[in-house]
Amino acid sequence: MDLSYSGEHESFRREVQNFLAENARAIPKHFGVNRPTAEAVAWQRLLIERGYVARGVPRRYGGAECPPDIMRAQILGEEFARARAPLGLVNQGISMFVPTLLEWGTEAQKQDWIARTIRGELIWCQGYSEPGAGSDLASLRTFAVEDGNDFIINGQKIWTTTAHAADMMFALVRTELEAKNRYRGITYICLSMQTPGIEVRPLRTMTGAAEFNEVFLTDVRVPKHQVIGARGDGWRVSNSTLKHERGMLGDPHAALARIRNLLGLMADETVDGVSAIELPVWRDRAMRLQGRALAMKYHAMRLLTAAHKGEDLVLPRLIVKLQATELNHQIAALAVDVMGEMGLLYNDAAHSRAGGLWQKRLMFDLGMIIGGGTAQIQRNIIAERGLGLPREPKMAKL
Ligand SMILES: Cc1cc2nc3c(=O)[nH]c(=O)nc-3n(C[C@H](O)[C@H](O)[C@H](O)COP(=O)(O)OP(=O)(O)OC[C@H]3O[C@@H](n4cnc5c(N)ncnc54)[C@H](O)[C@@H]3O)c2cc1C
Repeated sequence: MDLSYSGEHESFRREVQNFLAENARAIPKHFGVNRPTAEAVAWQRLLIERGYVARGVPRRYGGAECPPDIMRAQILGEEFARARAPLGLVNQGISMFVPTLLEWGTEAQKQDWIARTIRGELIWCQGYSEPGAGSDLASLRTFAVEDGNDFIINGQKIWTTTAHAADMMFALVRTELEAKNRYRGITYICLSMQTPGIEVRPLRTMTGAAEFNEVFLTDVRVPKHQVIGARGDGWRVSNSTLKHERGMLGDPHAALARIRNLLGLMADETVDGVSAIELPVWRDRAMRLQGRALAMKYHAMRLLTAAHKGEDLVLPRLIVKLQATELNHQIAALAVDVMGEMGLLYNDAAHSRAGGLWQKRLMFDLGMIIGGGTAQIQRNIIAERGLGLPREPKMAKL
């Protein structure tokens, strides 16, 4: 594996560095939790114009249409992380729905939705999970029946991130109720959140925020032309989305930046006058985490090489998701432990460090280990499909 950059790539790096220096004042301070702020939208537009984001999206759908160049993508990741500048908006619409639509959508659907989504004007939520259908997603029971040019949907979704702020939902519904194989008969459909019959109820998490919701659907009428892919083929379409979701959930640059922040905190915090970084037990924990973050970085390089060779990246991406989410949680856990009793403070408490950021992360990151496929399920898939270990025993049919 040759890890050196060519002269052409090094000049691209300088171009990116110059851009970041010249536009430092446009870097958004507030990004917006559910809907992007005006400054975040302006930043996104600038990055699209420069060809730094939406690189794979054709120009006719509002993207930058750059030829695939994983080295340039890597350089962008490195330089933006170094400048502490966000490399564009990250949300379910941009990271998961747009790539799915590019793969499966009709021309009209692409024209209608992609440009507005990548510019941050159209916000999407993901309506997959249901009570009783999370890890076992294929057991979903929200159903849709045909009525003229429409489907009428009834059922319930749960854990729907940003449903309260979203304009649209991409959802899985069951259309062929009598299909013998439960993976068949699932349809992937898009609906406006303004459609009559949709009720969104917030769910409060332990961070105190209400980022996700229950969504109740009662006689919700959706035009058939909003189905993505063929009717009954939604399982295959949804797998394409999940592949992109798992890719989105693990950035080694972000993990390394967190380690640097953790080491900064450990240098500042003291116990009986001794800096936390000098205390062997904590130092040992920090080094283990640093080792794992570096392993993630090299795993990402392995992925780059594999992508170069056109190899299948599904399983390596599962490893990224599993490692990154567990690692982030453990970094936050060490930060909170290092703070001692201060680690118990959050919610703007007077003496909290960094506004209680580490405490919030500790709680939030626990959710990320579950969202997009739980760690246990990821381990099962890696073991069975990646390492060829015996399959998980199934319950006997009685
Ligand atoms: C922060 C967050 C955001 C989310 N956002 C969305 C969203 O926007 N849209 C959406 O549709 N969903 C969303 N989800 C839901 C998420 O996809 C599900 O929570 C996840 O798939 C797990 O399903 P479940 O909660 O039903 O748990 P279950 O499937 O009931 O699992 C419970 C436990 O049993 C374990 N388990 C289950 N089956 C097995 C097995 N075969 N082998 C070993 N262990 C097993 C699981 O790993 C887990 O520990 C979100 C979840 C979180 C936490």
